[in-house]
Amino acid sequence: MSGALPNTMKIPVNSYHFQQSVGHFLGTIWGKRRFEMRCVLACLLLTVFVHPAFGAESVHQSSRQIPVVHKVDIVVVGGTLGAVAAATEAAKEGVRVLLVGSRPYLGEDICATMRLWLDEGETLHGELTRQIFSDKQITTPIHVKQTLEAALLDAGVGFLLGCYPTDILVDDGGDPAGIVIANRAGRQAVIGKIIIDTTDRAVIAGLAGAKRQPWGSGNGRCNRVVLGGKVTRGLFPTREIPAVIRAEGQELFYYEYALDLNLGDGSFAALAEAEQKARDITYRDGQFRSAEKLFSIPSDSIIGETVSDGWRIGTQPPLQRFRAEGCSRLYVLSGSADIPRDQMQACLRPDRLERIGRMVGRAAAQQAQKTGVPVNVSVKAGSAPPASNGDVREVLRGLRPTGHETKAVSSSACGVPVLADVDVAVIGGGTSGACAAIGAARYGVDVLVVEYQEGLGGVGTMGLIGRPYHGRLRGFTREVPFCDKEHNTEYKMEWYRTEIRNAGGKIWLGALGCGAFVDGNVVKGVLVATPMGRGAILVDVVIDATGNADIAVAAGADSMFGGDETDIALQGTGLPMRSPGATYVNTDYLLVDESDVLDVWRAFVGVRMTSSAASYDMGTLIQNRERRRVVGDQVLSYVDQIAGRTYPDSIVLSGSDYDSHCYPSESYFALIPHTQQTRKANHPAPGGTCYTPYRCLLPRGLDGILVIGLGMSMHRDATAMIRMQLDMHNQGYAAGVAAAMAVRDERTPRRIDVKALQKHLVQIGNLPEDVLTHRDSFPLPDRLVHAAVREYSNQTQSRAARCKALSIILSHADKARSPLKTAFTSATGEVKIAYAKLLGFMGEREVVPTLIAKLKEIDQWDAKIYQGSMAEYAHLPTPVDALILALGGTRDRRALPVLLEKLDTLNPNVTLSHHRSLALALEQIADPTAAEPLARLLNKPGMRGHVMLGLEPLTNHPQKKRRRLEPLREIVLARALYRCGDWQGLGEGILQEYRQDIRGLFARHASGVLSAGN
Ligand SMILES: Cc1cc2nc3c(=O)[nH]c(=O)nc-3n(C[C@H](O)[C@H](O)[C@H](O)COP(=O)(O)OP(=O)(O)OC[C@H]3O[C@@H](n4cnc5c(N)ncnc54)[C@H](O)[C@@H]3O)c2cc1C
Repeated sequence: MSGALPNTMKIPVNSYHFQQSVGHFLGTIWGKRRFEMRCVLACLLLTVFVHPAFGAESVHQSSRQIPVVHKVDIVVVGGTLGAVAAATEAAKEGVRVLLVGSRPYLGEDICATMRLWLDEGETLHGELTRQIFSDKQITTPIHVKQTLEAALLDAGVGFLLGCYPTDILVDDGGDPAGIVIANRAGRQAVIGKIIIDTTDRAVIAGLAGAKRQPWGSGNGRCNRVVLGGKVTRGLFPTREIPAVIRAEGQELFYYEYALDLNLGDGSFAALAEAEQKARDITYRDGQFRSAEKLFSIPSDSIIGETVSDGWRIGTQPPLQRFRAEGCSRLYVLSGSADIPRDQMQACLRPDRLERIGRMVGRAAAQQAQKTGVPVNVSVKAGSAPPASNGDVREVLRGLRPTGHETKAVSSSACGVPVLADVDVAVIGGGTSGACAAIGAARYGVDVLVVEYQEGLGGVGTMGLIGRPYHGRLRGFTREVPFCDKEHNTEYKMEWYRTEIRNAGGKIWLGALGCGAFVDGNVVKGVLVATPMGRGAILVDVVIDATGNADIAVAAGADSMFGGDETDIALQGTGLPMRSPGATYVNTDYLLVDESDVLDVWRAFVGVRMTSSAASYDMGTLIQNRERRRVVGDQVLSYVDQIAGRTYPDSIVLSGSDYDSHCYPSESYFALIPHTQQTRKANHPAPGGTCYTPYRCLLPRGLDGILVIGLGMSMHRDATAMIRMQLDMHNQGYAAGVAAAMAVRDERTPRRIDVKALQKHLVQIGNLPEDVLTHRDSFPLPDRLVHAAVREYSNQTQSRAARCKALSIILSHADKARSPLKTAFTSATGEVKIAYAKLLGFMGEREVVPTLIAKLKEIDQWDAKIYQGSMAEYAHLPTPVDALILALGGTRDRRALPVLLEKLDTLNPNVTLSHHRSLALALEQIADPTAAEPLARLLNKPGMRGHVMLGLEPLTNHPQKKRRRLEPLREIVLARALYRCGDWQGLGEGILQEYRQDIRGLFARHASGVLSAGN
């Protein structure tokens, strides 16, 4: 554990100069003398510092059941061209095959290494390679990905993306019987008779105990490819290949660098460092893209069944070379196969690899046909569990959050190897996470960032949203470059990378946080799935910057999501195309739940099905505006934001308009006063600036962890005002400094000196000085609440003042109730209606006759609140909706006739907000009288049948193909019907269908509603 070493020992060499430069502000917090002494001590100790021998250490993982999500004949592990060739060939033999890839696409051997060309004189015979290159010398990533996915779909081979293998399953005879995988949904098991391991380092063969050649010490040859740009760091490429694409008026070239890199002990940590070194020296000014990973041939190949097989170099190697000795049900189909190292490169060329893949696939299929179904399958026992406190916690439900798998395999208690031991681990190196790493590293603590993507920066780089919109350009965030005429995405990614490394931080790319090591209620480690297996990183503080609270949820924190059983709403999601040098491609045509592996899969594959072959590539990061959020010590709410609430522990002041990309969840948005202008505005609900208290980063009931980015503790309606990149940078930075303070002061993050943190943030300009004197401004004194009651209905007040008054009333409902009733009694006309609506929302039944009378006067639906060019489904509730929702809030049966009258006028052409308001009102009253009218509405033409049960081509255009509006309408009405007692099982039937919907949001909501029952 990091606590075993003094922190000073962990200050990395290159952070020393940086620390000197930041010494002035450190001095104010910790005392300059202490800091200087630490630096001197650090320098002395660095010379003797030896990193702990991680291999020997492990953390305790108790016994557990891993849900089984697939049972097949053959499991192909890895998503290479060889893997696809083997899978399709095996399927031709009539066996069931599942391929499990770790990247969000297939063809990683070609696309991730960016070796997209054919060599001189290379000829093609394979079906796949001929399609991939289509008579050209060079292909594009999108074409490789599309071709391989289509091949699997055509062959009826199931496949998963974004999954790393973590364990091997064995049957009662100890033979391989499948694998365990880790992904954003947790871990699951796949049972299979035969395994084809196509991973670079033969992870599964290693887990099966296959013998290897020793890892060669010293340097290893690696190739790295960069697209475009000029030499900047003095190193010249070994060759240039015309890319046959143009960008910004230039003809582009791929530049291949042959590098001799120190690969250390061959561990993931050593290779990750080598990868970073390669990036250090090959970065080219103005580059358009660069390889996700290095190409190299591992020295520790698996020992095959026989090496005296008379194979002649240059011919097709025999099958035995791809079967691990002593593991008859396992094939190795990668650079780790038993081929002489100087011959391996040729075997990995696309055409040869396809041929070998087909040979292996055929043999595996024939073997599977002769092999019985594995029985008594369990996870192969690992090393004995250490006698340490704590346990590994993770999500074990299935591929989807709704998963309730009935079958499981047992995994006995074991030790999970420790891969690293650091002060602060940041999981997710995106918009907030990369800045958290910078913040912590600049404070001299030992930081490791773990990021799944190929580069840092998240939505702002890999997500192709390269420039800011709103947010406050103050303090730290001013340092972060944005993409402009001169700087592209690669530049921005490189900035994050070098900033972290220059401050002494370490970076692991292509690895996935997938669990937590927790002792009592303190998180002491994070579980990480790497391309070389799963392990633990021991920490003093984890910063969960996944934007989806992945680690906090795995550790046991409560969370919130737009599809929980209470309501269904999610901001629109996108998936951009990625042309070379692309910096800003803002899309919104999907709804995606990042924790749902099937949903993410169908988004990637469905969009690629319709992507233009003329495009170069597709983004690998889903543009997700709203995700799962943790429940923290404080939950930020929209009314608090609009009411201008202050806190004693504010760490960010953010600002934006209400850029929501969806309707809000809370009904009270219907009460927001509008002007002619705001009704037509792009973002009609009010925005502004708001504070984020530090407590929103602390998951309730857990310590040792901070949750930042979009996964922080807030109601979904509060997201719009805090999510802008400029503010997320500052939030991340503040969290990084907070984590570093916790480490330095040997406290948990919950116990840090928040005032000291605020002082630093004020000093660098992140926060205005007055936060230092703020206290929690809530609850407000009675006089201000009473004043708000008067102001809300005062037409002479500005809209902003009336919105603030509304927020104060809603956040002080008990105090406001009595003055509201008095105001209602004495008011007349529209003012009376305004008070009636408010009291209706608060459940006061005395206003029911007034609301009914007003609603009866209205004989047609009012115009939608515009919400700009956003999708039809994003409209705010209208004033008529407000009357309906207020009546629903009273739960009074007297409202039924008028509500049912309105319900009768609905049809698919009526705006969603009206369907929603009636559904919400009726389900609140929950009277069986509403059931038959709701069923009648659902049976009108066009209202039903919008469920999506399987993969479908997805497209950004035209609008109607977005396929969001109709299911949202159908599901909300079916839910109301179900909650009103149902009509001939129609509501339940529709919800049961949506429970199987491939789209995560719908499946999750339907499942939640059904589980809660009616
Ligand atoms: C389409 C779209 C348009 C937007 N437009 C704008 C705009 O114009 N201007 C603006 O200022 N803001 C905009 N925003 C908002 C802003 O970009 C986001 O709110 C912000 O980037 C979110 O930051 P984050 O750190 O929470 O998430 P991200 O930036 O997404 O970072 C999360 C990172 O964690 C990684 N990760 C996730 N899970 C794991 C795991 N288990 N293990 C390892 N790594 C993991 C991801 O790969 C990712 O890199 C937009 C957002 C979207 C989606």
